Amino acid sequence: MPGDLTSLYRARTAREKGTVEKDWGGRCSVALVYPNAYHLGMSNLGFQVVYGLLNDRPDTVAERVFLPEGQEMSLHLRRGTPLFSLESRRPLRDFDLIAFSLSFENDYPNILKILEMGRIRLLERERREAPPFVMAGGVTTFLNPEPLAPFMDFFLLGEAEANLNEFMDRFTTADSVSADKEEFKLFLARNISSLYVPSLYRVRYRRDGTIGSCRPLKAGVPEKVRSAVSRPGEFAAGPVACSTLTTPDTEFGDRVLIELGRGCGRSCRFCAAGYVYRPPRIHEESRLLSAVGAALEGCPQVGLLSAAVTDIPGIERIASAIVQRGNRFSVSSLRADSLTEGLLVSLREAGQKTIAIAPEAGSERLRRTINKHLSREQIHEAVTRIADTGDFSIRLYFLVGLPTETDDDIGAIVDMLKSMKHHMVKSSAGRGSIGQIRLSVNCFVPKPFTPFQWFPMASVSSLKQKQRRLKKALSREGGVKVSFDLPKWAYVQTLLAMGDRRTGDMLLKAHQLGGNWWKAFPHMEINPDFFVHRPRGIDERLPWDVIDHGIDKAYLAKEYKLALKERESEICLVGECTRCGVCAGIEH
Ligand code: SF4
Repeated sequence: MPGDLTSLYRARTAREKGTVEKDWGGRCSVALVYPNAYHLGMSNLGFQVVYGLLNDRPDTVAERVFLPEGQEMSLHLRRGTPLFSLESRRPLRDFDLIAFSLSFENDYPNILKILEMGRIRLLERERREAPPFVMAGGVTTFLNPEPLAPFMDFFLLGEAEANLNEFMDRFTTADSVSADKEEFKLFLARNISSLYVPSLYRVRYRRDGTIGSCRPLKAGVPEKVRSAVSRPGEFAAGPVACSTLTTPDTEFGDRVLIELGRGCGRSCRFCAAGYVYRPPRIHEESRLLSAVGAALEGCPQVGLLSAAVTDIPGIERIASAIVQRGNRFSVSSLRADSLTEGLLVSLREAGQKTIAIAPEAGSERLRRTINKHLSREQIHEAVTRIADTGDFSIRLYFLVGLPTETDDDIGAIVDMLKSMKHHMVKSSAGRGSIGQIRLSVNCFVPKPFTPFQWFPMASVSSLKQKQRRLKKALSREGGVKVSFDLPKWAYVQTLLAMGDRRTGDMLLKAHQLGGNWWKAFPHMEINPDFFVHRPRGIDERLPWDVIDHGIDKAYLAKEYKLALKERESEICLVGECTRCGVCAGIEH
């Protein structure tokens, strides 16, 4: 192995705390792959949790693999060195199992790069004779695994705490390495309810290009694969997920990440996390306080994570306890309607400079359509409270291209900004300083298992035009900064989020053409707009209908129709309602 690469990899692990280095003898070896750069993968709590769960098993050794960048990448390419793991620096192909942890669709092209750099055949059908097995898990796989179906032996769908040990028990006790690969996959599909083996299903298409059917090819393989979820009672009393590996080489280098709760009961109609992580679950306050205390023994800061941090009961007390010990904390985005002065004071004491809130849409009408449950008054009250408490900058998240959006809705974003600035100036009067307003404007990308799964993505040209309009209107406002994502990448993200197995062919072609999607599209039999810009029929079979999250499709359709009527619906009332079907199907 080339010396320079070895020392680069060694230098990485030398800067880490919490690295697990195990002897391979007699253990099942898992290459846990994050398909992007090290500093991004190491900031991902889910990836770290899986690393911990695997290495907690005496029969398993898990080592990490990332997409090399910079000097590492050029050394790999120049010398033709196969990709290897961080801990023992063994080549990818030496492992029994290669497991991808996926959080973002736009990382999919990196999966193919990593397999190629590891000298692993890309297509599942070309790997049937020999190990290793290649699998994937993570939120995008339990939204829609189909675009990756041609490349994966199987997917483990759902929350790792709920199914990873069951899977590893089967994988390690059966003689997976010497067994016939196809027989072994069949065994797994028949015995693990959350394991999806795409090669065991035949998809038939109608003349119009939509899916006619998706049926198992063998007896005992389920029609629908049940995504695994931890029960609310077990979650509340169970271990709190914390990052166990720290390094200065990540965005969150100086802090331990702690998951306060999972899922969100607010039911915003565009947000996949609000549906596939149902029911919303929260840890007991005492457990959170213990987890925070333990984390602060070894690290001066914690990052508190939840879809809605302000919805966590006791969050003010937890924040205040951290500050009173002389430590610091940061939080992910906050709900404007539940942002309290107490929490803001603690954030100020903790040195947080920016408060992020997400109105998502400028007009009351569009916020009702997306089920945001956030009024203009609540937003203004939150801005006033933020400005009254300290010199915070405010980051605001908006979406453009939302279903039913009009020019007036875009104009309403500008109006909201102006009025916010006015509130901030008024509240900060006499202090002599005023925080900045930063806008992050992203394109709406439809997602599976949401009420907006039937809507298309807006055209790239209309999104660009909306972005130009906002840029022009806001460039005249001092103290306001705006950033936009690129509509062309939102197009690719929609393709990979909403596509079926045929989008896997597009992914492969784009990979063969150096990552150029626009060169790849003309080679395809089907126009990618079919997946991106086509409104889906409410009765149409969708590629992800092979997965069962316990959510009633009729409930999602009802929410879709309420959106068209600009009407909001109730938030989750766990223990009191059975509306979407999830709570009726699980033990609490
Ligand atoms: S059944 Fe009700 S409380 Fe449970 S996840 Fe569905 S909407 Fe939320």
